[in-house]
Amino acid sequence: MEAKEGRFYSPRMKMVEVCHKCRACIYACPVKAIEWGVGEIIVDRFACAQHVFKKGECFNCVVECHQGAIVLEEYELKDGKITKIG
Ligand code: SF4
Ligand code: SF4
Repeated sequence: MEAKEGRFYSPRMKMVEVCHKCRACIYACPVKAIEWGVGEIIVDRFACAQHVFKKGECFNCVVECHQGAIVLEEYELKDGKITKIG
């Protein structure tokens, strides 16, 4: 099936200094779109986007982060490329 395109919200590590590396955000993602990188999270935005397009808005990762280290930001998937809005 062809991948859907459009706008979606996806997480970004905004405050690395308050992240205590609990990985709750990683475990909370239903499609395993987050993995642990060097000192912060790496997000597979394509996987995140496809989940949002299929199931609707998703806040799981942000809700699970009790440190407030990550925020959702708007992105657009168009012609196979993902760009940040704004
Ligand atoms: S849930 Fe928050 S504090 Fe825990 S690893 Fe993810 S970003 Fe860091
Ligand atoms: S918004 Fe949902 S699908 Fe996207 S990374 Fe967070 S938990 Fe995963």
